[in-house]
Amino acid sequence: MANKAIFFDRDGTLNEDVDYLYEPEKFIWVEGAVAAIRWANAHGYIVVVVTNQSGIARGYYDEAAVLRLHDWMNAQLTKHGAHIDAFYYCPHHPEAEIPAYRKPCDCRKPAPGMILRAIREHDIDPAASYLFGDGARDIEAAESAGVRGVRYTGGSLLDCVQAAVESPRYNEWI
Ligand SMILES: [Mg+2]
Ligand SMILES: [Zn+2]
Repeated sequence: MANKAIFFDRDGTLNEDVDYLYEPEKFIWVEGAVAAIRWANAHGYIVVVVTNQSGIARGYYDEAAVLRLHDWMNAQLTKHGAHIDAFYYCPHHPEAEIPAYRKPCDCRKPAPGMILRAIREHDIDPAASYLFGDGARDIEAAESAGVRGVRYTGGSLLDCVQAAVESPRYNEWI
C-alpha cells in the first residue's frame, strides 16, 4: 500500500529565511517547526524536505555543506523525538557560475521533479499527501505533482499543518 507524506519546503518554512544558508550557526527553526515534524511522524506521514539550493550553482557553498546541514537538522530533531525521512535539493540554476550546475532542470521548483522523485522512491500516494511552503513556486510544484499545496504564511507551523490536515477529516464527520 502506498505511503502518505508531508513535504516541507526548507528555507522560510522550516527555518527562518537567511540568504544562502548552509551554516548550522545561522539556522533558526520557525515557531512550531520541530513540533510539526514530530506530529507528522506520529501520524504516519513520511516527512520529506524539498529545497532549491541555487547557492551550490552560484558557488557560495558545495553539496557537502548542504548534506552536513541536513545531517545537523536531523541530529537536532532526534533530540526532540522527531525526524525527517528524506531530503531532496536542487543544486542547479540556469545562470549558474559553475558550469556543471548551469542547466534548466526538472527539479528546481516550481518544477515538480523533486516531489515526483520522492513519490517514486518512497512509494508515496500524492493524493494522500501535503506540501507546506512559503512560496508560490512551492504550491505550483506540489499541484503539478498531484499533492495538495498549503501556503505557510508565518506563525506556528504546527498550527498550519494541523489545520490543513485535520480539518478536512473533521468536516467529513459532521
Ligand atoms: Mg521557502
Ligand atoms: Zn535542479
